[in-house]
Amino acid sequence: MFFIMEKNYKKILVTSALTYANGYTHLGHIAGSLLPADIYVRFQRLLGRDVLYICGSDEHGTAIEMSAIKENITPKEIIDKYHKSNKKAYYDLGMSFDIYSRTSTDVHRATSQDFFMNLYNKDLLYTKTEKQLYSEKEKRFLADRFVIGTCPVCGFEEATGDECENCGSSLTPLELKNPRSKITGDTPVVKESNHFYFPLSKYQQSLETWQGTKNNWKPNVINYCAGWFKKGLQDRAITRDLDWGVPVPVEGYDEKVLYVWFDAPIGYISATKELFIERNNPDGWKDYWYNGETKLVHFLGKDNIIFHAIFFPAMLMAHGDFVLADNVPANEFMNLEGSKLSKRRGNIIYVKDAVEKINPDTIRYTIASNMPENRDTDFYWSDLQAKNNNELGAILGNFINRTFVFANKYFDGTIPPQNELQDIDTNIKLRLNSGLEKIEADYENYKFKDAVTDSMNIVRDANKYFNDTEPWKAVKENKERCETIINICLQLVHSFAVIFHPVLPFSTEKILHMLNKGKEDLSWDKAGDFVLKPGHRLNQPEILFNKIEDSEIEKLS
Ligand SMILES: [Zn+2]
Repeated sequence: MFFIMEKNYKKILVTSALTYANGYTHLGHIAGSLLPADIYVRFQRLLGRDVLYICGSDEHGTAIEMSAIKENITPKEIIDKYHKSNKKAYYDLGMSFDIYSRTSTDVHRATSQDFFMNLYNKDLLYTKTEKQLYSEKEKRFLADRFVIGTCPVCGFEEATGDECENCGSSLTPLELKNPRSKITGDTPVVKESNHFYFPLSKYQQSLETWQGTKNNWKPNVINYCAGWFKKGLQDRAITRDLDWGVPVPVEGYDEKVLYVWFDAPIGYISATKELFIERNNPDGWKDYWYNGETKLVHFLGKDNIIFHAIFFPAMLMAHGDFVLADNVPANEFMNLEGSKLSKRRGNIIYVKDAVEKINPDTIRYTIASNMPENRDTDFYWSDLQAKNNNELGAILGNFINRTFVFANKYFDGTIPPQNELQDIDTNIKLRLNSGLEKIEADYENYKFKDAVTDSMNIVRDANKYFNDTEPWKAVKENKERCETIINICLQLVHSFAVIFHPVLPFSTEKILHMLNKGKEDLSWDKAGDFVLKPGHRLNQPEILFNKIEDSEIEKLS
């Protein structure tokens, strides 16, 4: 209603960074990319926009092959296990993907190979002979994490072939001192291997020009890219000597696979294709990806900025035809109780465990109200308890509950009429509408933390309205006045079902059911209008947020 799109976009294509399928996903993933994307998508759907939410499992790369060797099962068994589990956990937490796919599908393999061949046939790629570590014992090249050794920068003895966990240096296997195979401990030899390179350096100028047109990108993303541009972009090898991955579709190279960061972002395209195959409209994906009228938004954590703001856009430019990202709203990290929420350090809360123990809307609300949008934030169980009890329960739940108690007790469970309005009544409606305008701007500008705060502030004012109008007095002294007050409070309950829907999808569905209203009333356009008709029968209320006791929190911390 108040909205002006910055460009004439007809469709919105939202991606959330693919989840790496070599382990269970944790709350850091939710805070980094999945929840902001889901909130944004749900908000756009409330506005009636044509929006798709694409995500899936990233199922290639050395870490998966490594996990398979460690667990003594096949890579396929590893990805099946974690893909299935993570997907379920996400749906349990209310993620509203249009598709949650995976990169081990035939469609993805074909799409990635076609993409590669498009660049190859245009002579954009070149090959280079590289010296690499090779294990004679295992008869394999030791790429990335298959090799460990001493970090040349800090002397840490367990650095892997791609990075040093201790000092954060980005490494190549040949830089390691005293290298050895991660699996057998074998000392590798240096052997030559031929690889395809993507000429990333050639695209630096185009990327800088393109990013120069983006005046609404977050400073962390712009600054990060500026750092890379300043150093000068380097060409990147896009093939690897591995067994597990998308085979390189060129004769003589068919024992190699595509580098995981080449094929993974293409996963957004192949997942969209799969979605439209499911919808019996196999060319439908082109309307989104080939269309300059699509707003493409990538949600991700800061560790993935280079791939989404530099590498993938350069690939798309090289290929041609595809739409480039409108925005790349990367988040910083969320830490658990002050320490890094990272798989490697073992200090983690798995999504699958959290949703079993806690109301998923409480998890969403807690993370959204403390989202690491501009800096790292901390997740505390005590904070989750406080958000649940003092805000969701004591402010939102309480307003809805006291309103329903009145409607049931004095108006036979129906919506009373709205009689003559006083200033206090028109003021709360004005307050609602100015709040809606602010929240809409928050969502459009990726300020989800502000959206949560601004939403709850309207409920605070609604509670104040309830207190100030004193319906418990009015019901005895002036029943008509009480009718108007409770009518307005019920209208506000409906508004809150809409306003909170992006953050609290399960609870707002319950609220709608309590109001005996359908999905058609879940529309942003109706959030500011008082749409409930007098005489309409309500359903029985239910408790939306159970109090979380100290003893429960002690068990979780
Ligand atoms: Zn180091």
